[in-house]
Amino acid sequence: MISVLDEHGFAMSKKFGQNFLLPLSIREKIVSQMGTIEGRSIFEIGPGLGAITSVMLEKGAFVRAFEIDHGFAQILRSEAFADEERFSLVEGDALKTLFKETERPDLIVGNLPYNVGSLIIGDIIERGLLPERMVFTLQKEVVERMCAQEGGKEYSSFSVLSQLDYDVSYSFTIARTAFYPQPNVDSAVVVMKKKADSVIEKGEREKFFLLLRTLFSQRRKTIKNNLGRIIQDRDQLKEVLEKAGIDEKERAENLSLKDIVRLMRCY
Ligand code: SAM
Repeated sequence: MISVLDEHGFAMSKKFGQNFLLPLSIREKIVSQMGTIEGRSIFEIGPGLGAITSVMLEKGAFVRAFEIDHGFAQILRSEAFADEERFSLVEGDALKTLFKETERPDLIVGNLPYNVGSLIIGDIIERGLLPERMVFTLQKEVVERMCAQEGGKEYSSFSVLSQLDYDVSYSFTIARTAFYPQPNVDSAVVVMKKKADSVIEKGEREKFFLLLRTLFSQRRKTIKNNLGRIIQDRDQLKEVLEKAGIDEKERAENLSLKDIVRLMRCY
């Protein structure tokens, strides 16, 4: 792969978070986290030169790839997978293109650029794309945040968002040396399996997202202070917290997903 990159005179773009995964064994291990993929439809975000794509195609999957880099898109389309009927490509920013799709995938996979990884995952959840399973390679710290439980220092609104519709698990670590060019952080693979039952109703989602953003808007502030932005009446605010059984001096980092859902249903 390094030779293809050199041959085409590619200068890796920091802006697009381009670090390519080299060892086949690791790429296969990532794909194996997706379960049986033969005949399944998969969206891949940021295929690059197709390192993970080729493994999925070999296993009989239908892959629709979303790539922002024009040079890579051309290689994928006209060289790498030109004769592959189960491959299709959408060129452009996945943050926009993903949500214009009319078909829903069974699975989503991506070795995501560090800078947009959490944005893309957040959008997938907030905009309700919600495939049965997602497998992402991300900066290790981001995966730790996604898996964090209340009370820990990694716990954030992104942890809650990640766990709203999915059982999220830290699968394995990938050392920085597995990438070219070598980034200065390690990566990890996160597996997100859709929960059998939704924690909240469809009609509650907007309210939930607003509450979540508000609760974590200023980490150092108490829940009462942050909530004051959406419940201005002080007496009502006090009542809501009492009804939800939440101490007004508590901070959002100590609230579980269940606590937040209960709080949402009290106003
Ligand atoms: N999948 C390849 C691999 O594992 O070797 C490449 C992974 S590289 C970390 C990230 C890829 O995402 C690059 O190909 C980059 O051009 C692409 N990318 C970055 N931002 C993107 C965006 N907003 N939408 C779609 N692709 C993007």
